[in-house]
Amino acid sequence: MPSVRTLGLVVRTVDVFETSLIMTAFTRDLGKVSGLAKGARRLKSPMQGGLDLLGVSDIVLLHKASDALDLVTEAVPVERFASLRRDLAALYAGYYIAELLSDLTDFHDPHPRLFDAATVTLRHLGEPLLRSRRVLRFELACLRELGLMPVLDACAHCGVEVEAEGDSFAFGLATGGVLCPSCRTGQPHVATLSGRTLGAIRALASPGNAWRDPELGPGSLGAVRATLGAVISHHLGRRPRLLPFLGA
Ligand SMILES: [Zn+2]
Repeated sequence: MPSVRTLGLVVRTVDVFETSLIMTAFTRDLGKVSGLAKGARRLKSPMQGGLDLLGVSDIVLLHKASDALDLVTEAVPVERFASLRRDLAALYAGYYIAELLSDLTDFHDPHPRLFDAATVTLRHLGEPLLRSRRVLRFELACLRELGLMPVLDACAHCGVEVEAEGDSFAFGLATGGVLCPSCRTGQPHVATLSGRTLGAIRALASPGNAWRDPELGPGSLGAVRATLGAVISHHLGRRPRLLPFLGA
């Protein structure tokens, strides 16, 4: 029974039996993993604090036979995000990130860059001015890493280049991005985005500092919020539970 040690962000815990819990963590090296932590809820458990939701911990997992849950044998806290304890809006945003990692990723499918994006985002959720942009950037990073990123510069259906400037764009939620005029008819779940909204999504998805531009006012961010919420709901097959708790 080989054991593995990895850095993981705890994204879900469920109490089981008298004193145990089942934890799900998004780990840097192994992707999403789940395991039974026996006695972890006892007062003097050596895993105390190591399995707190939204904490990063050094976790040791003991792999069991295929039909049994893996066992968590060690969980030592490595990083706690202080702003999540003081600020309810930051906490909801943190829960939303945990929900996406828990429900959009597959078990044992590692994405170290997504792990890093999550921890960087959680570290800065206490800054209210840029909080919603950071969450939107995390969602875009999530979609990109998981191969679900909407096409923004070309028609998602036929591939023809789409003008960078324009008043409005057709955006196929099911097709996976912008649609040219000849492809938009007949496509299901087509939203209409203003040129400003599409520009804001492009800026938020870009490397560099364009996402910090004060020109991306609350008006365009609200429309980006609605669009990305719809894209993620489409991939999840339901609306994320925490989505209504995010400020626009
Ligand atoms: Zn087309």
